[in-house]
Amino acid sequence: MKYVRFERPDGPCWGVIKGEDVLTLSKPPYDGLDYDGGRLPLRQCRLLAPCEPTKIVCVGKNYSEHAREMGSEPPGFPILFLKGINTLNRPDGAVRRPGFVERLDYEGELGVVIRRRAKDVKAESFADYVLGYTCLNDVTARDVQQHDGQWTRGKTMDGFCPIGPWVTDEVEPGALKLVTRLNGKTVQRGDTADFITMVPQLIAFITASMTLEPGDVVATGTPAGVGPMIPGDVVEVEIEGIGILKNQVI
Ligand code: MG
Repeated sequence: MKYVRFERPDGPCWGVIKGEDVLTLSKPPYDGLDYDGGRLPLRQCRLLAPCEPTKIVCVGKNYSEHAREMGSEPPGFPILFLKGINTLNRPDGAVRRPGFVERLDYEGELGVVIRRRAKDVKAESFADYVLGYTCLNDVTARDVQQHDGQWTRGKTMDGFCPIGPWVTDEVEPGALKLVTRLNGKTVQRGDTADFITMVPQLIAFITASMTLEPGDVVATGTPAGVGPMIPGDVVEVEIEGIGILKNQVI
């Protein structure tokens, strides 16, 4: 299944992609599908972020090569930080660079969307708690992150987390190829098989400390090759079997 959220005159609506169309749902798909009989072409839908998180839990430095390019050795356990829900952005929403930000970076990542309240999850049963997988850009004001000495402001500016275009349960998270392109040129190339901590162990690690709620998102870390974007740039995050997340910087 591929799940989408989109704008309808009466408010945000969930749906399931069927061929070129969207079959609409009466409620979020977290605890089962309730079709309401609606059907409309996918191309006519103004897509929204395909989740309604209470928090976005991010993993820093989950690829060894990225840890090294940031000047540190790979960490011995997952480094977690949060992005506020003010960062949520539409799959084709513009990413605005505030005027005081000197270096705005892309970070292409696999996003995991949670379907059931999850606490103290064992790695082997992680899949029971996952709605599916999506593309995510952990946009970062790198100069602010480095200036502040901690990450909240640099990671949590409005619109700094485009997610989408949909959530799919048709892939397994263990070996997915990820590519980030800037203005059509490939700038990051990763494979989730190279994660330092794989998705099942990440879910176990996170839920040992905090409860994940339906719709919460885990951003699993970015591969090497992070770099700057400037207004006018178009950034794409493509993950094998999922799709392409495409955003313009303004
Ligand atoms: Mg990141």
